[in-house]
Amino acid sequence: MISWWNKQIQRADHLVPRANGSKELLTFYAHLLRAQKGIYESLRGRKAWLPSGDLELDWPVLSEAWPRFLKAVESHGPASLAAEAHQLSVSETGAFVESLMTYWYHSSDIQFFEKAFLQPYLRWLNESGGKPVGRGVLTSERSCPFCGGNPQVSFLQNKETTAESGNRDLICASCLSSWEFRRVVCANCGEERPAKLGYFHSPEFDHIRIEACDTCKHYIKGVDLTRLGFAAPIVDEINAAPLDIWAREHGYTKIELNLVGV
Ligand SMILES: [Zn+2]
Ligand SMILES: [Zn+2]
Repeated sequence: MISWWNKQIQRADHLVPRANGSKELLTFYAHLLRAQKGIYESLRGRKAWLPSGDLELDWPVLSEAWPRFLKAVESHGPASLAAEAHQLSVSETGAFVESLMTYWYHSSDIQFFEKAFLQPYLRWLNESGGKPVGRGVLTSERSCPFCGGNPQVSFLQNKETTAESGNRDLICASCLSSWEFRRVVCANCGEERPAKLGYFHSPEFDHIRIEACDTCKHYIKGVDLTRLGFAAPIVDEINAAPLDIWAREHGYTKIELNLVGV
């Protein structure tokens, strides 16, 4: 839905002037979201076409959005990404398609261009009823049931709950869809013993916490929508970048870096 992208963009625009320590990251992310919305709309608005889920087959259509996306990163990205975007814009696309396929089979949070470019594609594939072809979708509750991606952020919301699921959801780093997850469980290794699971929270970000696991030493950020209903988890997660510093200083590794590399 287009309104989903608008919601993220509006939230980023709202937070930029108020940001403390993450203003540059958020400003870039607001531009990036607009570029991703552009990709999404170009795919969704295409007449008589739906994504097949076979990335190689869909690439000729997807590639039409590629130059404009690169331009956006070149214009608004941090220096290193801008230079890389420029380089990609003057190169043959063959090498990029190869690394896109590598990402397709083995998602990675350090392949910025692949991850950012495919998020709107995977989102539309999901909404239009398709299925990703050839991606290894594990049956683990800790990876996305649609595309097999890692969790980017968790969130709590009020909804009808069952004892099984609680009211915690994870958002997929690859396709941005969400799935239900148990509340007191490590989203990386499945640790369930409360003594091994720690939470860190700072008054500056009242609705956000670090959810850390002492068994696997990984963490994810959790956004509490019962405290701040209009927060947008993937945007608020970036705004709370100072919490990541705390987590790293305490020896925890993030399950999946976000698009701005935090
Ligand atoms: Zn996914
Ligand atoms: Zn763990």
